[in-house]
Amino acid sequence: MQEAYGRIRSSVTTTFQTAPTLPTPAQLSTARSSLPSSTAITYLTSHGPQATLNHLLTDIAPGLNGQNRSSRYWGFVTGGTLPIAEVADNLVSAYDQNVSVHLPGQTIVTEVEDAALKMLVELLGLGNAEDWEGRTLTTGATASNVLGLGCGREGVVGAKLARLSSSSSASPEHEGVGELGLLNACLKARIMDIQVLTSMGHSSLSKAASIVGLGRASVKELPHSADQPWRLDLDAVEKELQREGVASIIAVSAGEVNTGRFATTGLEDMQRLRSIADRHGAWIHVDGAFGIFARLLPQTEEFAQLHQYAAGLELADSITVDGHKLLNVPYDLGIFFTRKASTLTNVCKNPNAAYLPSGGGTSDIQSPLDVGIENSRRFRALPVYTVLMSEGRDGITEMLTRMVCLARRIAAVVKESEDYILLPDEASLEDTHIIVLFRAKDDELNKVLVDTINTSCKWYVGGTKWRGQTAVRLAVANWRVDVEVDLAMVKSSLAMIAQNHRRNSR
Ligand SMILES: *Cc1c(COP(=O)(O)O)cnc(C)c1O
Repeated sequence: MQEAYGRIRSSVTTTFQTAPTLPTPAQLSTARSSLPSSTAITYLTSHGPQATLNHLLTDIAPGLNGQNRSSRYWGFVTGGTLPIAEVADNLVSAYDQNVSVHLPGQTIVTEVEDAALKMLVELLGLGNAEDWEGRTLTTGATASNVLGLGCGREGVVGAKLARLSSSSSASPEHEGVGELGLLNACLKARIMDIQVLTSMGHSSLSKAASIVGLGRASVKELPHSADQPWRLDLDAVEKELQREGVASIIAVSAGEVNTGRFATTGLEDMQRLRSIADRHGAWIHVDGAFGIFARLLPQTEEFAQLHQYAAGLELADSITVDGHKLLNVPYDLGIFFTRKASTLTNVCKNPNAAYLPSGGGTSDIQSPLDVGIENSRRFRALPVYTVLMSEGRDGITEMLTRMVCLARRIAAVVKESEDYILLPDEASLEDTHIIVLFRAKDDELNKVLVDTINTSCKWYVGGTKWRGQTAVRLAVANWRVDVEVDLAMVKSSLAMIAQNHRRNSR
């Protein structure tokens, strides 16, 4: 087996030197036809480790895309995996720890997770770890948004109950949604509806709303204007908060997934949100999956605009952050913070399991199964802990800076080109974070642009719609980014695509 692992390593290493962004159609079809057929006589027979390994290396691996192994896979916001994080991830499988209960006498895992979480609070400039005593690692930003709306639901109903019965001695944990259920708790609190107020909230926010029982229809878009739909209309929010019998969770998109833009324009917006939320018992959840990392860019003129947009996010009640995107740790790694540990335990408590030892000790570390969605959990903290230790603040800042620089240089190429238009509306470069949105001026070319780029296998982009029109969405998120080399490739490729189109349409 030792030898087998060696072969996997060297195979992966050699493939990545020439990694295309997509497998060829032939590689995909070989991989597909190698999958077991339920009618074959060998179906579910033992192939043994050696033959199976050969199958993985010769059939399956070539059918995978280059999202981690190429610096030019710019679809979605995928991130990559730093080599040291990959090592840590292999260690996680080798030791296969179950990080569900805090057992300080038996394993260090929960303490590693908490150390990573505390470093993340500091890294992101959110204040002190004690200000975020509800903290956990999740499977990704979607799971963090589920926790965010779960905690928000608990928070807004709790606030209303507290107002109604300021004399009552019942503690929220016996009265809240987690204990009573949404219907009973809302009846008691005289709440007819809970709404989620946002501007271009990520699709996973609606999914989270469904999962926690609020419903996708509870998500209400309050765009600032047709020109800046990612911006939250604070006047409209204030009006919504005044509705009788309706409780509200404000979900701040930081940033928006098509454009990378921010729902708030600076500290003053967040301060105003905080004060109206407090006045009306609303909850503020920040979805900062990738946008929050703008706070780590150097404090220079170049990045001043982004720093301003991302200012004040620490005023939220709960925050979603993704680790498997810009932080370049492997899937699945999301981060969730909320102010009070009790909010999280009210939602996630795994009660009355006599066979589970209670964590205990005198530390402030809670058993992860009481503050997160899963009971049995992977030691997903190790890769993120490892990246924080290996790169430190400066290394992470340097990596993020390279991503933003490439995105801006590409945006500049698009802006200067006669064939393409930078969106939204000739966006300014100072507003560009890691996402570049653009389209071809020629409608016919625009229709096929994403496919033309992707079938070149030199770079890969995502397709999206902006104002009803097809657009290219390029998201830079991999540590491998080489600004000069990648830029030169994009520049010549874009020029070539436009030139070919002109020639062919004559
Ligand atoms: C990617 C993303 C999500 C969903 O994150 P997953 O890690 O894919 O679960 C949520 N919100 C925003 C803003 C995102 O960019």
